[in-house]
Amino acid sequence: MDYDVVVVGAGPGGSMTARTLAQEGASVLMVEKRPEIGMPVRCGEGTGVAGLKELGITPHPKFIAQEIYGDYLYSPDGTKVDMRTEEPNGYCLERRMFDKHLGILAAKAGAVVRTRTTATGLITENGTVKGVKLRHFDDEYDVKCNVVVGADGIEGRVGRWAGISNRTKLGEMTSNVQFELVGIEMEEPNVLEFYLGGKYAPGGYVWIFPKGPDVANVGLGIRKTKETALVYLKRFIAEHENLARGSVASIVVGGVPVQGPLEESVGNGVLLVGDSARHVDPLTGGGIYNAMHCGTLAAGVIGEALAAGNFSKEFLQKYHELWWKEVGEGLMRSLRVKEIIEKLSDDDLNKIAKFMQGMKFGEIDIKEASSIVTQFPPEFAEFVQSLL
Ligand SMILES: Cc1cc2nc3c(=O)[nH]c(=O)nc-3n(C[C@H](O)[C@H](O)[C@H](O)COP(=O)(O)OP(=O)(O)OC[C@H]3O[C@@H](n4cnc5c(N)ncnc54)[C@H](O)[C@@H]3O)c2cc1C
Repeated sequence: MDYDVVVVGAGPGGSMTARTLAQEGASVLMVEKRPEIGMPVRCGEGTGVAGLKELGITPHPKFIAQEIYGDYLYSPDGTKVDMRTEEPNGYCLERRMFDKHLGILAAKAGAVVRTRTTATGLITENGTVKGVKLRHFDDEYDVKCNVVVGADGIEGRVGRWAGISNRTKLGEMTSNVQFELVGIEMEEPNVLEFYLGGKYAPGGYVWIFPKGPDVANVGLGIRKTKETALVYLKRFIAEHENLARGSVASIVVGGVPVQGPLEESVGNGVLLVGDSARHVDPLTGGGIYNAMHCGTLAAGVIGEALAAGNFSKEFLQKYHELWWKEVGEGLMRSLRVKEIIEKLSDDDLNKIAKFMQGMKFGEIDIKEASSIVTQFPPEFAEFVQSLL
């Protein structure tokens, strides 16, 4: 074998897989089709403090744009719910630097990293994956390995090549567009803002993620609409004077799979990590932490497979079961909540926001809330119950 493992894709999921495997002593090749890891950015760049800490990633100013102290939620009539926190609970990242940092950590741990190198197919023998076909400029070559990790994101093809059905249909993803706006005014440049409701973003939400005192990612995701995400975003910005005066420093477009996690994520000699396994949260669209976390889980199971010399689907299934236990159930819960929220009218959302107004998030007594929800639509009662 040329390598123990080939990781396809150097996003957060791929780099964490490659790094953890290399730390365990495996020989790893990580390939990335783009010329530079982290570019172009396709992300709102928000992530949690607790997740990075748990994964042992030390925050550094080169990839932390802003510390975040909670959120403001706005309902369609402008009712504001204060969910700020005393301590920082999140970061707005510079993802181009963050992803590169993770790639560098993988390389420093001993993984071989090749950029501008595209996986174009799998090498299989008797139904088992034995390697990858790669292309670097005009140079096409094969690399043999025991396990291929498909960390190739939403457009990933490793799963399909291996016979794992991970295609995301258009109706199953939100269509997102984001402007990085500079020269704007924000009420508080260290609080995330979310705007809910069909008026602003049917099937999704608007986010304002501050990256500095007068810079923020302003974006939205929508689903099943006649007008494009861009039309909705331009309209939202035009309606908000503090944003309308900003200049657009960068534009991000991309899809987020919101149909919930995969039922199958492993095959003989292959497994999927991150967006390619739909580890992204269907409610929030957040996928950075889950991709990284599942990458470490994948590396653990691959390490055991290398020790046992067993790369069968049955052996690798342990990874599938592990991530379902650790993140899958949470993703299913998010999916149920998303489906409930999608059914709420703007009027319902306004009522709910008024009910929550004046409460600090940590102070909301869910049990008390559930006892008075009868005044709200049945879906809201269901929503509260789902939080219990
Ligand atoms: C508009 C938008 C906003 C978002 N906002 C947030 C947010 O604020 N917070 C959050 O947590 N999540 C957010 N997400 C989701 C988040 O970006 C993803 O969940 C996360 O990047 C998943 O990481 P990954 O490693 O699985 O995949 P990716 O980051 O997509 O990495 C996959 C990599 O594989 C490479 N690749 C693909 N095919 C091949 C191939 N054949 N050969 C070689 N390389 C290949 C790609 O070039 C890419 O670099 C957002 C997504 C979008 C679209």
